[in-house]
Amino acid sequence: MSARTHQPTDGPAGSNSKVPAARTGGAVSAFSPEVEAAIARQRHDVARLHAELIRWGLVIWTGGNVSGRVPGADLFVIKPSGVSYDDLAPENMILCDLDGNVVPGTPGSENAPSSDTAAHAYVYRNMPEVGGVVHTHSTYAVAWAARGEPIPCVITAMADEFGGEIPIGPFAIIGDDSIGRGIVETLRGHRSRAVLMQNHGPFTIGSSAKDAVKAAVMVEDVARSVHIARQLGEPLPIPQEAIDALFHRYQNVYGQQGDDRR
Ligand SMILES: [Zn+2]
Repeated sequence: MSARTHQPTDGPAGSNSKVPAARTGGAVSAFSPEVEAAIARQRHDVARLHAELIRWGLVIWTGGNVSGRVPGADLFVIKPSGVSYDDLAPENMILCDLDGNVVPGTPGSENAPSSDTAAHAYVYRNMPEVGGVVHTHSTYAVAWAARGEPIPCVITAMADEFGGEIPIGPFAIIGDDSIGRGIVETLRGHRSRAVLMQNHGPFTIGSSAKDAVKAAVMVEDVARSVHIARQLGEPLPIPQEAIDALFHRYQNVYGQQGDDRR
């Protein structure tokens, strides 16, 4: 990964953010008022959404992370590394560029970002339609990942939400782009918003951070249900045309106008 530092200035060289700079009252603000407002909203949403990981029992200790892309800028907001869930707040969320570099001088930048930041950054760089990424080690999803077995689409809720099986991604260890690459290679062109990285656990994507959190909650729910179904026999398959019809209906008809969609 590149060691270069993001330059939050309006200099023509060194800046890779397509955001105009503004100077106000002697202080340098790297971003336009619109982008500053979008960053503030994303800090709020990402901090708050971490509580959902606790609420749905998807994480232990400080594990798990949520990030959200800043609309209109080559930036995203992610959780700091190793900070208690009780202490997460908008001001200690960390602003990064799409290479995963922390933007210096911004709130929270004194802390290290989540150890999975490079994977999140890789997804944002390579999947422009993605607005949020979530990673957990939720128990049942990890159990499928440990076996390297895709979760078969044998319940209608799974057809609704994921449009088919939950795929397995390659074995990859932290430290370079290999986790991010595995997520993108598995999910690009796939209906599923969740991938189970082999021997590791689920990464989910969504149109927003909230949508990716929903996918993380749902993937654990279906992993659990199908795991339990397996205990007493072989679950019945759902015909492909029924899976297609359920997926289409749920993605296009179900819910309220204005819901976060893929
Ligand atoms: Zn992990």
